Amino acid sequence: MFLEFFKSLQEGKLIGMKCKDCGSYTCPPKQSCNKCSSRNLEKVTMSGRGIVKTYTVTYVAPMGYEKEVPYIVALVELEEGPWIIGRLDVEAKIAEDNDLTEKRVSVFAKEMPGEIFYPLKDKRIVPYFRLEG
Ligand SMILES: [Zn+2]
Repeated sequence: MFLEFFKSLQEGKLIGMKCKDCGSYTCPPKQSCNKCSSRNLEKVTMSGRGIVKTYTVTYVAPMGYEKEVPYIVALVELEEGPWIIGRLDVEAKIAEDNDLTEKRVSVFAKEMPGEIFYPLKDKRIVPYFRLEG
């Protein structure tokens, strides 16, 4: 499921799970519903749109990510409800000088060089959000 999530993301599709019991969405996909823990889930394609709830500009990266700083890690509330972590596709200065919370965004995928902790050895698919409008 993990790999399928990233492969779909690469094609511009955000995969999630819809709970057949309580109707809530879980994204990224998991075995059980985030809300009621039911395992009675079906795979769905999410809209990929949401709003920025909070974000931080990262200047000091964990090992292996040093070449990618500065980057902006954001928590986005998807239209369907779940909150998902991704990066914001804006310059650090813009993120520092403006309040981007509550801005509308949509998801896409960026390919980054692979690193040792990632299941695909040659590349890494990172969820990014671009500002809409
Ligand atoms: Zn549920």
